[in-house]
Amino acid sequence: MSDFYIKPESEFYQKLQWLMLSRVLFTSLLLGSTIILQLGESASPLAPPLLLLYGLIAGIFLLSFTYAIILKHVKRGILFAHVQIGIDTVVVTLIIFVTGCYSSIFSFLYLVVIIYSSMLLFRKGSMIMAALCSIQYGVMLNLEYYRILEPFNTAGIALSAADYAGSHVLYKVVITMVACFAVAILSSFLSEEERKTKKELADMEDHVKRVEKLAVLGEMAAGLVHEIKNPLASLTGSIQLLREDMDYDPQHERLMQIVLREADRLSSLVSNFLLFAKPPAGKTEAIELGRVLSEVVELFDKETRKGRHVSVTNTVIPNVWVQMDAGHLRQVLWNLLLNAAEAIDGSGHIKIKLYPLKNRFACIEISDDGCGMTRETLKSIFDPFFTTKPGGTGLGLSIVHSILESYNSWLEVESKINAGTTFILKFRLIRPPT
Ligand code: ADP
Ligand code: MG
Repeated sequence: MSDFYIKPESEFYQKLQWLMLSRVLFTSLLLGSTIILQLGESASPLAPPLLLLYGLIAGIFLLSFTYAIILKHVKRGILFAHVQIGIDTVVVTLIIFVTGCYSSIFSFLYLVVIIYSSMLLFRKGSMIMAALCSIQYGVMLNLEYYRILEPFNTAGIALSAADYAGSHVLYKVVITMVACFAVAILSSFLSEEERKTKKELADMEDHVKRVEKLAVLGEMAAGLVHEIKNPLASLTGSIQLLREDMDYDPQHERLMQIVLREADRLSSLVSNFLLFAKPPAGKTEAIELGRVLSEVVELFDKETRKGRHVSVTNTVIPNVWVQMDAGHLRQVLWNLLLNAAEAIDGSGHIKIKLYPLKNRFACIEISDDGCGMTRETLKSIFDPFFTTKPGGTGLGLSIVHSILESYNSWLEVESKINAGTTFILKFRLIRPPT
C-alpha cells in the first residue's frame, strides 16, 4: 500500500481524513478552553504561556491545512500517517510544557495519540508512537528536574519537577511510559483483531459468491454438456462408418483423423467442464490417504518420466484415513501433479508430503521448484478457463477446487515467481476403520 497514491475510497484514506478533522476540532476546543481559563488567571493577554498557546493553535491549523492540501498527492500514505502522528506527539509535549510540565493535567493526551495511531498504523506504528511519547516525556521532565527547563507557573501554585524528590519524578515518568506501552499493546491488539475479522469476512463473502456462481453454472453446464455430447457421439460414429465404407485415400484418411481427434478433444473438454461445474456425487468410502497418494504418484512418475527431467519424492505416513471417493481424490492429485510438472521447464523437482495437522486434519503438500506465479495470476487460478499455457484448458484447478469443496476440504497456495509453488490440501480425518 505504501507505494501507491492513497485511494480516496480506501478505508485508510477515510480514517486519515477523520483524524485530520478531529484533530482540528479537538485542539481548538481544548486549547481554546485552556486559553480562556488562563486569560482569567494571568495578568496580561500577552503573557508568554498564552502566546505559546496561540502559536500552537495557529501551528495546528497551518499543519492541518497543509495535510489537507497534500493528502491527494502523497505517494506513501503510511509514511504520511506516521509523520502526522509523530508531529502530534511533539504537539502534545508542547501542550504539556505550556500547561505546567510536571503538574500539567494533559499527559493523558499521549494515550489518545497512541490509541488512534493503533487504528491507523496497527501494532508497529503504535509501538513507535509509544516510544516517541515516552522519550519526549522523559526528556522533558528530566530537563525540568535539573532546572534546565523552567515551566510556566501561571497560577502561582503549581510546583515544578525540581521541587519534588528525584524518585517522585522518576516514578511519574516510568508510570507514564508503562501506560503508553500498555495502551499501545492493548489497542493495537484490538485493531489487529478487527482487521483480521474484516479480512475473514471479506474472504467468506468472496467464497460464498463463488459457490453461488458455481451452483448456477453447474446446472447450466450439465444441460449443455448433454446437448453437445449426443450429437458429438453421432458425428464420431458416422465418420467411423464412412471410413470403413470408403476406399482408402491417404488424403481422406488424414482429414477423418483430424475430425475424430478434434471430436475427442471436444468431448473430453466438455466432460472436464461438467466435472468442474457439477462433480458427480461419487461413492464415498474410508480410504487411506497414504496408499492412494503413493499409487497416484507412482503412476504419475512413470507417465511423466518420458522426456522430462522431473524427479519426485514422496513422504507419507501410514494410517491416515479420510472419507471420500477414491476417483475424486486421484483426480485432484493428478491435476496438481500435472500442473507442478508443467511448471518446470527443463529439470526440476516435485516434493510431496503427507502429514497430520492438529489431530483432526491431514495435509498433503505438493511443491515444485518451477516457474511460480505472479500475484495477479494467483488471484485467478481457480477461475474456470483461466490458463497461462498455450494449450491449457484452465479447468484443472477449478475441478480440484470444486471437488474439495464438496468434501468440506480446502486448499491453500503459496507461490513465488521463478522460485516455485506449493499447494497444501487439507482434509478432515476420520477414525481408522477396524
Ligand atoms: P491449465 O493447467 O490448463 O492451465 P489449471 O486450472 O490447472 O489450468 O491451472 C491454471 C493456471 O494456474 C495455469 O495456467 C498456471 O498459470 C497456474 N498454475 C497452476 N499450477 C501451477 C504451478 N504448480 N506452478 C505455476 N503455475 C501454476
Ligand atoms: Mg492444469
